[in-house]
Amino acid sequence: MSIKNISIESALHSFGLAGVQTQTGNLQVNSPINGNPIGHINTHTETQVDAAITQSKLAFEQWRSVPAPKRGELVRVLGNQLREHKQDLGALVSMECGKIYQEGLGEVQEMIDICDLAVGLSRQLFGLTIASERPGHKMTETWHPIGPVGIISAFNFPVAVWCWNAALALVCGNSVIWKPSEKTPLTALACQRIFEQAVAELGGIPEGLSQVIIGHADVGEQLVNDARVPVISATGSTAMGRKVGPAVAARFGRSILELGGNNAIIVAPTADLDMAVRAILFGAVGTAGQRCTTTRRLFVHQDVYAELVPSLKKAYRGIRIGDPMNENTLVGPLIDEQAYQAMQAALSLASNQGGTVIGGERTLQSEYPNAYYVNPAIVEMPSCEQSVQEETFAPILYVYRYTDLNQALAQHNDVPQGLSSAIFTNDVREAELFTCATGSDCGIANVNIGTSGAEIGGAFGGEKETGGGRESGSDAWKGYMRRSTSTVNYSSELPLAQGIEFNL
Ligand code: NAD
Repeated sequence: MSIKNISIESALHSFGLAGVQTQTGNLQVNSPINGNPIGHINTHTETQVDAAITQSKLAFEQWRSVPAPKRGELVRVLGNQLREHKQDLGALVSMECGKIYQEGLGEVQEMIDICDLAVGLSRQLFGLTIASERPGHKMTETWHPIGPVGIISAFNFPVAVWCWNAALALVCGNSVIWKPSEKTPLTALACQRIFEQAVAELGGIPEGLSQVIIGHADVGEQLVNDARVPVISATGSTAMGRKVGPAVAARFGRSILELGGNNAIIVAPTADLDMAVRAILFGAVGTAGQRCTTTRRLFVHQDVYAELVPSLKKAYRGIRIGDPMNENTLVGPLIDEQAYQAMQAALSLASNQGGTVIGGERTLQSEYPNAYYVNPAIVEMPSCEQSVQEETFAPILYVYRYTDLNQALAQHNDVPQGLSSAIFTNDVREAELFTCATGSDCGIANVNIGTSGAEIGGAFGGEKETGGGRESGSDAWKGYMRRSTSTVNYSSELPLAQGIEFNL
């Protein structure tokens, strides 16, 4: 379907959700495009959440015995359903969270990609055979399903985060319960419809294998505190992770935390500046600066500063801001007024600290009085020992000048977060230094690629206050399983490990 033919009505209709526009409910959902309500739904009560967890446990107890490649079948069908719904779901993402339609499509593509990865994985949940020190003994390590997985997600990736977790959790033999952001519950309900279609197509799937619970932080807290949910994967701010991490640990559960970032790019003297400008632009202003991997800090070598920074400012002047459903738009709105206020506060602080601010003003106010569109900001910062320490979830790029790479690296790492990072250089020594043990301390360290837009094949996540969790590719699936070490004695003796003699 062409972008011109997709309206909020048609997008909701294709998921059987047209009713949310007229029904009453205690949760009002607004579109950041114009600030107008697009639906009302009800949040789940404590009793309903409890019942969902009970059902999830029952579903898990059946699903864990289904052979993993059969579990993969469900995820394969889910991926195909997502292919069919790519345009509608991409549009709904755009309308509910404000990212441009191309990025909405990209988010759904990420869901399809992780489904493909998970289907392959369903035949590769490999364990180990380990050499035993005892004769006639065999030692193995096996991975088993662990139980219901709770997924808490943020507004800015309203659908992909669910799928990164759910596709893996499902092939690993678990049930899932999803608490989406209270700002983007409709896309979650749309995903639930798509999942239900996959279930209906395949048949024989336990009831309640994947469920959605709607609500604010209190609904998330109930999930977090319930010992029947052994794994909690929580994506959102560091402030949220600070509460969720200890609460899950207090009941000896496992958490996968995907929290805030304060990502930086270093531009070295040998960098391809044209490529660097394009990467910085996408990284800093894409999704209106509301990606966990958004480029927030830039360290530019003094030899290329005079060329790079003016080119970047020129590129910023060409950014087309507006309705994210318009094909020409590159930057849509901020999620809400609170995000706009946080951006203004960060800019005045930077200005008070001697920074030179370009951009950052509200725009399109007369056309959209209830929505918050901003000109992305560049802030040239005076030289200082420490760069900005906070993540402000808005398009602000702090620019620093450097002379020595080791000193730039030290500043780069001297922040509480550790998600994504990049260096632009054609000097192999600098590239290797950046990615080696003493280089970037982030979960993602790129060379000649920006900080955002990771592929699903690698493990995704970051260190320090980013939470340490890993999702998506590589061996992230192990986070959704329990490990069992088994030693089988096929001899007629009973030798003890470490050669201990214990004879009567
Ligand atoms: P948020 O922390 O406000 O909310 C995230 C989710 O947590 C929501 O569903 C919310 O209801 C829930 N929540 C909040 N407090 C809770 C509690 N005490 N117990 C249980 N659940 C609770 O985040 P947001 O504004 O929606 O998203 C933006 C933030 O998310 C940014 O900091 C961004 O960097 C981060 N983020 C990180 C990643 C990543 O992979 N590292 C990805 C996307 C977003």
